[in-house]
Amino acid sequence: MLLNDVHSQLNPTSVTDVVRPTTLEALCEVVKQAAREGVSLSVAGARHAMGGQQFAKGQRHVDMTGLHRVLHADASLGLLRIEAGANWHHIITASHQMPAPGGGTWAIRQKQTGVDEVTLGGSISANAHGRGLLMQPLGADIEDLTLVDAQGEVLLCSRTQNAELFSLVVGGYGLFGLIYAATLRLTPRQRVRRMVDVLDLTDAMNAVYRRVDDHCLYGDFQFVIDPQDDTFLQRGVFACYKPTSEVEAPGTVNADLQPEVWLQLLKLAHDDKAQAFKLYSQHYLGTHGQCYWADTMQLSTYIPSYADYLERASPADQPAGPKQTLVIGELYVPRDQIAAFMTQAARVLKAHGVEVIYGTIRAILKDDTSFLPWAKDDFACVIFNLRTVHTDEGKARTAEAFRGLIDAALVLGGSYFLTYHRYATRAQVVQAYPQFEAFLKHKRHFDPQERFTSDWYRHHVALMGRQP
Ligand SMILES: Cc1cc2nc3c(=O)[nH]c(=O)nc-3n(C[C@H](O)[C@H](O)[C@H](O)COP(=O)(O)OP(=O)(O)OC[C@H]3O[C@@H](n4cnc5c(N)ncnc54)[C@H](O)[C@@H]3O)c2cc1C
Repeated sequence: MLLNDVHSQLNPTSVTDVVRPTTLEALCEVVKQAAREGVSLSVAGARHAMGGQQFAKGQRHVDMTGLHRVLHADASLGLLRIEAGANWHHIITASHQMPAPGGGTWAIRQKQTGVDEVTLGGSISANAHGRGLLMQPLGADIEDLTLVDAQGEVLLCSRTQNAELFSLVVGGYGLFGLIYAATLRLTPRQRVRRMVDVLDLTDAMNAVYRRVDDHCLYGDFQFVIDPQDDTFLQRGVFACYKPTSEVEAPGTVNADLQPEVWLQLLKLAHDDKAQAFKLYSQHYLGTHGQCYWADTMQLSTYIPSYADYLERASPADQPAGPKQTLVIGELYVPRDQIAAFMTQAARVLKAHGVEVIYGTIRAILKDDTSFLPWAKDDFACVIFNLRTVHTDEGKARTAEAFRGLIDAALVLGGSYFLTYHRYATRAQVVQAYPQFEAFLKHKRHFDPQERFTSDWYRHHVALMGRQP
């Protein structure tokens, strides 16, 4: 059976079979049966990671999406215990059923931007982040995890119970067990007002500090993607979100682009980047001052079949070329190094002749939960979606560009996100993640039979110079 990731579609992987348990007992049995048969397991939620973390060639695959029930809702403390195959729609709906003590309901603090169907288990395993201006990655919002370990036994992991395992599972890419459920810390639901500026990168950092002083909670900066433009990567749309208590605030307006507008802009970003940015900034400036709920504002329009749409939207007289999709990469740099990084990033992208289709800058606070933190410090996070043609040359170009961008980030004391690809060299992995060897050692300790595996794991084991 052939499985693939959703966004890049660059990880076709043949697995022996797929199991989709719908109860905790069935999940434990999957692991016990795998042990009896001597097979390994890969595990996936919504299959949005892009480095082969959720697949293992020739092994059994566990699909977690059948597990999405609410297990316990503590409305006095704002703690939601829910199965890990739940996606953000399930979680947000469940949080709205929980009355908050001061009136209103509870809500999530953060979720990924750009995709909603990802699961809680997948999000914890990547230690994902949203666009909070003063937030650590998602692990900070996790009170505890219910894990099915390599023996098929159920373990509760938290900061006080099985604490080491807890820190390994958060950002641990499914290598330490199957996350059956997690308790998510919620926040009282509030309204926010969107504030939009178009500004230069040189002003952006100060603008962030001003907005933080002004109590804004969320924000991001979407930059110019046209390499012919003098302001390439240097100018952008800065959108921030400030809490508001105004009663007339509508709070229900959809914060993101309508699907047809999203597709049009995506197509324009391929064909006419200047026009794409112009329309995008007009759209955002037109929403300046609008109010949203802080949680549903984070929901995004995303169409998984976007590559088929782009192919269909090509002129009829143009012969269909090889498949094209987007590959994402995320780089981190100390905040005061963002200008230097973006200047170097522009050089790298131009030198490799790769096209940015979409890019954004966000902020993160130093992570104190994960054993393998990508947010090693308070960083600026720079995300690039690169157009990637599925030929050897096209894929190599994207890989080289991302290696160049990783070097540019590392030189400035930064890092990169493990979830989006596995292009990094050994030296880059070790510099960005000095504890990677120790991470693999812990893996062998907790799972000596390698019951849980993935092509991403096997790649890194080989890269680090050990046999899987
Ligand atoms: C368009 C797009 C936008 C994105 N935006 C953001 C963003 O804004 N911020 C951000 O941080 N990330 C972002 N991501 C990355 C995304 O958050 C991660 O790749 C996340 O892991 C995807 O979750 P998933 O449910 O699809 O997991 P999968 O891709 O299915 O799996 C990812 C990892 O989690 C493991 N896993 C999944 N479920 C379980 C489980 N129950 N128990 C144990 N292990 C499990 C898998 O083995 C694998 O290692 C984006 C990705 C895409 C494609």
